[in-house]
Amino acid sequence: MAPETPGKETQALSNLLQENRRFAPPAELAAAANVTAAAYAEADADRLGFWERVAERLTWAKRWDTTLEWNTPFAKWFVGGELNVAYNCVDRHVEAGHGDKVAYYWEGEPEDDSRVITYAELQDEVCKAANALRELGVGKGDRVAVYLPMIPELPITMLACARIGAVHSVVFGGFSSAALKSRIHDADAKLVVTADGGYRRGAPSALKPTVDEAVAESPQVEKVLVVRRTGQDVAFGDKDLWWHDVVDRQSTEHTAEPHGAEDPLYILYTSGTTGRPKGILHTTGGYLAQTAWTHDAVFDLKPETDIYWCTADIGWVTGHSYIVYGPLANGATSVIYEGTPDTPHRGRFWEIVQKYKISILYTAPTAIRTFMKWGDDIPAKFDMSSLRVLGSVGEPINPEAYVWYRANIGGDRCPVVDTWWQTETGAIMISPLPGVTHAKPGAAMRPLPGIVADVVDDQGNSVPDGGGGFLVIREPWPAMLRTIWGDDQRYIDTYWSRFDGMYFPGDGAKKDEDGDLWLLGRVDDVMLVSGHNISTTEVESALVSHPKVAEAAVVGATDPVTGQAIVSFVILRGTVEESDDIAAELRAHVAKTLGPIAKPRQILVVPELPKTRSGKIMRRLLRDVAENRSIGDVTTLADSTVMNLISEKLPSAK
Ligand code: ATP
Ligand code: MG
Repeated sequence: MAPETPGKETQALSNLLQENRRFAPPAELAAAANVTAAAYAEADADRLGFWERVAERLTWAKRWDTTLEWNTPFAKWFVGGELNVAYNCVDRHVEAGHGDKVAYYWEGEPEDDSRVITYAELQDEVCKAANALRELGVGKGDRVAVYLPMIPELPITMLACARIGAVHSVVFGGFSSAALKSRIHDADAKLVVTADGGYRRGAPSALKPTVDEAVAESPQVEKVLVVRRTGQDVAFGDKDLWWHDVVDRQSTEHTAEPHGAEDPLYILYTSGTTGRPKGILHTTGGYLAQTAWTHDAVFDLKPETDIYWCTADIGWVTGHSYIVYGPLANGATSVIYEGTPDTPHRGRFWEIVQKYKISILYTAPTAIRTFMKWGDDIPAKFDMSSLRVLGSVGEPINPEAYVWYRANIGGDRCPVVDTWWQTETGAIMISPLPGVTHAKPGAAMRPLPGIVADVVDDQGNSVPDGGGGFLVIREPWPAMLRTIWGDDQRYIDTYWSRFDGMYFPGDGAKKDEDGDLWLLGRVDDVMLVSGHNISTTEVESALVSHPKVAEAAVVGATDPVTGQAIVSFVILRGTVEESDDIAAELRAHVAKTLGPIAKPRQILVVPELPKTRSGKIMRRLLRDVAENRSIGDVTTLADSTVMNLISEKLPSAK
């Protein structure tokens, strides 16, 4: 290989942000914690033995012969073992006498629309759906595309697929027909499960026409199974069948046959924040073992008493692992909410916390920053004394947003766990443990027991404490992706070619002086300013620490003097008026917080930021604006009109 020219990737990430706040675990929680500090030492001493004990929490029809077969970079876990995921998530709890326990409190967007589903009822529904899938000719290994709103039929369909060994591919209910079509084709799905529509911001919004468009160009799709959710008029073609016609008449008896530990469980496409989505393949045994254990450990789940709510969409990996598989495998009681946080009012989330006495809440920084923008007085109106653990996932959480979350939602008593992971990792990888960790706001802290993560320089050498670079994972883990569906070469190229023998997730990170880990955003987003590598996360966090700023996104734009210059897009907090001197004030604030090198060249006040459907900022589109280019692929954008609003703000942009 030719020597690399010195450029942005050969430089260490500058370590600018200093954060001295610490939060000790609450004494009571620590005293009764599911997982203690001993787990780290235990896993260090015998990593595979640790994962074996994790897997033993599941019910296996046949125990595995070999814990790990590692043929770099292809992993097989619990080889020879057999189990049924749906049996583990549902039936075994009923058999253990917990049939009357609530699996899901489902809360529709219309306020009087809710359902309570016990484990026994879930078992009946999953069995009926499994029988229906068999009747429709779906067999083991077949792919089923699922395009549903956040209604009970979504987890029921996933579990029914898992039960019969079919492979589900859930596609966000907000994606376009082109996005749905490309996912149907990539996975070669023979069945699509959808609904007439779903509720979005107080009104029914149609799904079926989007499916019709996609299916018209998908000859491999044999049938479309349609749930009636909104009752709106829909066109019905040859392939279409109503869920209530096919599923309701099925038997509630269905024997769950065991499947191989390495049989495919599902395909899920990544969010598309950085480009063309990748069809991530997850398999059965290792995935379920790690999602169940991490859900128990990271949230300190007490299934007898906790009411758990993860606000993610099930169409995203967080929903797969921490609304469906992890919580159900643990016999938890969860809440599923169909709608948006501002329908019919901006206190809806806190009303739900109060109504169900939620004790564990898992949400995303984008939501937290939105709540900050709306104002402290909204959550203050609700009784949230039931909460005891708070989680965050999806993006780096800015220290200010973390502290706001802890204070205004957690009453300054609940630990916040900042969980780093990806669609590819399947389960949480780096996170505090709520009964162990003295947490730092903004830091994901330590790899979980059994996970070997590190930060390396561009040569793949471990950086010392205080240094920054590339996050890597050195050893395989049970819930890891097995490949990119149908494209082993892309799997190797994307994750395993940057550093020899190490998994490279694409994220930058630093180790602080204590060796704790801070995620610094995607390495593609790192800015090179006058010879310094500066992370977008640190500048954004500095901006968000200003009392007038609710959200910020920064990008590097080509600059004749400094190489790249920092361009910032900020959203102001609810009550703040835009004034002429705000930009100067914020530039001075960043210079004071991080140093003059990180001072943005430009600050633009905008009404919204471009985000994916999972709520992540798409910096590549902002880079297009800042560099005055036409805007790139926007198919995974939640709201395509946002880019026009932003372009108008930039004097030089088109
Ligand atoms: P694509 O890979 O298609 O660009 P994506 O990376 O947004 O999409 P996901 O798998 O949903 O798709 O997101 C995983 C990414 O989200 C991580 O690689 C990381 O960049 C970011 N992320 C998730 N949780 C955290 C966290 N706690 N702290 C920092 N970053 C996080
Ligand atoms: Mg990614």
